[in-house]
Amino acid sequence: MDTVQQFDLPDSSGDGRVLDVVRRCWGFDRLRPLQGEAIGAALAGRDSLVVLPTGGGKSLCYQVPPLVSGGTDVVVSPLISLMKDQVDGLTGVGYAAAALHGNVSEGHRRDIERELADGEHRLLFVAPERLFQAGFLDQLSRIDVRRFVIDEAHCISHWGHDFRPEYRKLAVLRKRFPRASVHAFTATATARVRDDIVEQLRLREPAVLVGRFDRPNLVYRVIHLVDRRQQTLEVLRRHRGEAAIVYCLSRKDTESMARFLQDAGLRAAHYHAGMERAERRSTQDAFAQERLDVVAATVAFGMGIDRSNVRCVLHSCMPQSVEHYQQETGRAGRDGLEAECVLLYSAADMIRWESLIRKSAERAKEPEEVVAARQHHLRQMQRYASMITCRHKLLSEHFGQAYESADCGACDVCLGEVEGVDEATVIAKKILSCVFRVGQRFGVGHVADVLLGADTEMIRRCRHQGLSTYGLLKDHGKREVQSWIYQLLDQDALSRTEGDRPVLRLNDRSWAVMRDEAPIRLLRPKKGARRPSRHEEQSWEGVDGDLFERLRVWRRAVAGERGVPAFVIFPDTTLRALAAARPTDLDALGEVYGIGEKKLMDFGEVLIKLIGEYLGEREATDDMAADLEPR
Ligand code: ADP
Ligand code: ZN
Repeated sequence: MDTVQQFDLPDSSGDGRVLDVVRRCWGFDRLRPLQGEAIGAALAGRDSLVVLPTGGGKSLCYQVPPLVSGGTDVVVSPLISLMKDQVDGLTGVGYAAAALHGNVSEGHRRDIERELADGEHRLLFVAPERLFQAGFLDQLSRIDVRRFVIDEAHCISHWGHDFRPEYRKLAVLRKRFPRASVHAFTATATARVRDDIVEQLRLREPAVLVGRFDRPNLVYRVIHLVDRRQQTLEVLRRHRGEAAIVYCLSRKDTESMARFLQDAGLRAAHYHAGMERAERRSTQDAFAQERLDVVAATVAFGMGIDRSNVRCVLHSCMPQSVEHYQQETGRAGRDGLEAECVLLYSAADMIRWESLIRKSAERAKEPEEVVAARQHHLRQMQRYASMITCRHKLLSEHFGQAYESADCGACDVCLGEVEGVDEATVIAKKILSCVFRVGQRFGVGHVADVLLGADTEMIRRCRHQGLSTYGLLKDHGKREVQSWIYQLLDQDALSRTEGDRPVLRLNDRSWAVMRDEAPIRLLRPKKGARRPSRHEEQSWEGVDGDLFERLRVWRRAVAGERGVPAFVIFPDTTLRALAAARPTDLDALGEVYGIGEKKLMDFGEVLIKLIGEYLGEREATDDMAADLEPR
């Protein structure tokens, strides 16, 4: 269940005024979990803290109240690019909103100020630094501000992962506007951050609304790393023409990964904080307007992206905490449609992180408890990656929420994509003796080659064909054998030296395995086709895939012409609903999910024409096909 604490206000999900604006503006039939309560609190003028995962629908919670009550609510938001997208999106549905920040020209600013004085806008977005510029709060006190909304409110807490000191000043709002209510929104769930937000913003008996952290539309998969680029490409091939983010550890990695993917024919680019600002912006725009499918990025690529139809988030390297992982994968499937989150996992990444943590601790003279906390986060992440337990369950429980279902239908474990290998101990012993036979002087690649009975330059030079372990695993694939070696490293049944050319070494546990004193488990991907998740099957039910593609092409063109993100025109959910309903007149079109009054006016005719033409062509080809069939 979603938790609703200290909260006795009526929920507004049955409130006619609320449902009416939601339907007219956005074309949605009902509210999502906790939206009703959040809107109810805002309308009642009660402070609130709303914690919903990314994609949970936080924006609607603060967009609706001023439409119902009148007045101009102020949204404090940390990112200019997000504000711009939000205003574009709202304008697109006929909602009066504006943004004030450093990039707004003098003339435009004066226009907005006049419009505000005339009460024309329902929402005003401002950057925190703008809020505290001389005279600005005075200006606000002359207009009808009933609510302050603090978006990304975790930025106020140094326990969060994105502390911004200027957020601390927001406490002033309480004093300056005693009659306005304050509403904090965040996707960060830890109790410590939550308490900090309430305290720092001086919230008064806030309604605390905490949503479910599980994202049922995401499929989680963990793949044992063998070949970073090749495995990445294999995953991305499942998402041809769809949006994907590939997270890499270093700036250099993003560049080489993007080049590799381009060479493989994908529309890919790299992104990191070391790029020129203009270059970063143009990559973001290309991605938002669907001129680009794949971005290979460092974690710097995050908050600024607002593409709701990211279908794949792939971590080519292990993130440093489950919190980071949840946040980064949160960028997948924000529209609620199916999306895949893949983690390429290797014990070597673990070692890399540990040494990074040690180095940064030495450099910055960090206190012991900070280092210990980082190491704890890292181990939690490793636990997630190496356990063979439902991944939805692990993630939910990590965030303190029970997960009831025994089969999520949306992770590699529950979908039965991995299986244990029979005789794992026998295989492990073969690998360990081979490490011993080559004198504990070689790395993963060579040991695998010897076991596979390969004929390489190195094997000939070292005369390793003569070893008793040569060809012992020749009935298996190279990737499989390498993966098992990594799995042994992971279970600490084998060690690896540090440095550029790490070599495999036996340790105490290796000898215990040899003596049958320590159990070993080895996994392999199960043969056979990958099953779609339950969610994926359902979301494509009745959808005409060709028409969906045609609508996407149209949307890309319109977004490009207008210079706005594609989702501002329509999200994928609406395109799929259109491709399922295939409406041929305006009345039927108006009934489709996500088509509000303004969209109907703006795009109604064009869509009817496009769908009509498509259906006409379809009929013609069906006829032809029927004629070609043998009688
Ligand atoms: P968040 O800010 O929490 O990450 P958003 O506000 O961006 O999430 O919402 C995610 C998506 O869900 C958007 O495409 C939004 O239009 C859609 N959405 C929000 N509320 C509803 C609703 N009640 N019914 C249908 N779709 C909704
Ligand atoms: Zn599962």
